[in-house]
Amino acid sequence: MSNAVATDDPYRWLEVIAAEHPERLLLETGGGRRLSYGAMAALTGRLAASLAALQVAPGDRVVAQVEKSPEAIALYLACLHLGACFVPLNTAYTFAELEYFLGDAAPTVAVIRPADLEPVQAIAQRCGVTHVATLDEHGGGSLLERAESASPARAPHDPAALAALLYTSGTTGRSKGAMLTRANLGSNATTLAREWRFSSDDVLLHALPIFHVHGLFVAINTVLASGSSMLFLPKFDADETVRLLPRASVMMGVPTFYTRLLQHPGLNRDTARNVRLFVSGSAPLLAETHREFQARTGQAILERYGMSETLMNTSNPYVGERIPGSVGPALPGVEVRIVNPDSGAVLPEADSIGMIEVRGPNVFSGYWRMPEKTAAEFRQDGFFITGDLGKCDARGYVYIVGRGKDLIITGGYNVYPIEVELEIDSLPGVNESAVIGVPHADFGEGVTAVVVPNNDATLDEASIRQALEQRLAKFKLPKRVLFVTELPRNTMGKVQKSALRARYSDLYK
Ligand code: AMP
Repeated sequence: MSNAVATDDPYRWLEVIAAEHPERLLLETGGGRRLSYGAMAALTGRLAASLAALQVAPGDRVVAQVEKSPEAIALYLACLHLGACFVPLNTAYTFAELEYFLGDAAPTVAVIRPADLEPVQAIAQRCGVTHVATLDEHGGGSLLERAESASPARAPHDPAALAALLYTSGTTGRSKGAMLTRANLGSNATTLAREWRFSSDDVLLHALPIFHVHGLFVAINTVLASGSSMLFLPKFDADETVRLLPRASVMMGVPTFYTRLLQHPGLNRDTARNVRLFVSGSAPLLAETHREFQARTGQAILERYGMSETLMNTSNPYVGERIPGSVGPALPGVEVRIVNPDSGAVLPEADSIGMIEVRGPNVFSGYWRMPEKTAAEFRQDGFFITGDLGKCDARGYVYIVGRGKDLIITGGYNVYPIEVELEIDSLPGVNESAVIGVPHADFGEGVTAVVVPNNDATLDEASIRQALEQRLAKFKLPKRVLFVTELPRNTMGKVQKSALRARYSDLYK
């Protein structure tokens, strides 16, 4: 069957396939609901009409904190239809966190889960957001209730227009909105569809969340770019994945999916027989997991590397050696270099460890309303400073060796320690704290808090965790809270997190 659709605009993919092959299947949900490209285009048109009725104009932001559903995809596509900017939010964010995002993104409309309506209305009012609409996982809620069948005029195609803001956790505690253009999305998915040999025959098993770059742009845009289809599951479940794998030709996952599949007795060569490609990313895949998976299924997982700000940068090859522990060479059109993190000087010798910097059509245009932060993270020649430390071998394969920013990645989600530390430090009886990632068999890393109590205070683990539950999304909550009388520090007074990580390395074993 045909390969990539000959356009590089994410909305045009839908439009072209819906016009040429309206009956072609786009997705089937876990509950057996089937949606064709034509049906998705019609749904997108209706949602675009509802958004237009709520005064959404080109360039306006639309925030969405909603469950995974076909309608949530249509909401993203409706924003593209109108030339508006889609701002997906992790469903685990608390109301306190949502308030920050609504204030920062200043959307025209916030689309939320029906159960959250009352508290969010109050928050929206404080943030000056005029319209709040609801959408549930079955497509119910006020957003579709007011949808009309006639879709409004499509915005003219502007590759430089803002298509999405993806919020990343900030190292200083403030989340930054990475501004991605239509050209960023279009070029990256076109490259991935080509490099990973997607065709309209492919069926992608989709179990990732769709508020994140991986599930939304790597997975869905690549499907749209190739006219393929998805088995669209609400979340990852090992039993369900093993049951459905024989119907899939591609699976994308975070490393936790693969470690969980390996624990499932049903995973074998037979269940994986029709899968031509397993992709992993968002966090490091242990070389051990790669080898075990290959031994069980006969398939070498293809690991790639990217981030919200840059979409995908590198990928192990489809044809050629996939090296366990490496994220592969730079994708075509993307330049990757390793530099001295302090001086910025390029390290030309193979295997030198330094800061990974990238440049290309995939790289975002800056942080939303943060010109100084943007300027600080780009070099004069346009390279973006990723914050990841790594090396590049003589063949161009990139290896990530650490994270310069102390980022914790737990179950594929990013947690910046400072954000959790600030919440802990504000609790009564706490003198100071350090939050670190400690190896965890299931989550990759477990968020772990090391707390110094005030002299006279008696603190306990359960009450600290309970206090944090009101303030932080569940995935950011420390799995363990440990108490010490002082934190290890270097001569400059900086807390030595590496010493703490070493001290507690066996905590979850
Ligand atoms: P996010 O913006 O949430 O996608 O997180 C991006 C960060 O995830 C990157 O800067 C890396 O630190 C990390 N990351 C993504 N893919 C990989 C990978 N394959 N191996 C190691 N770290 C990764």
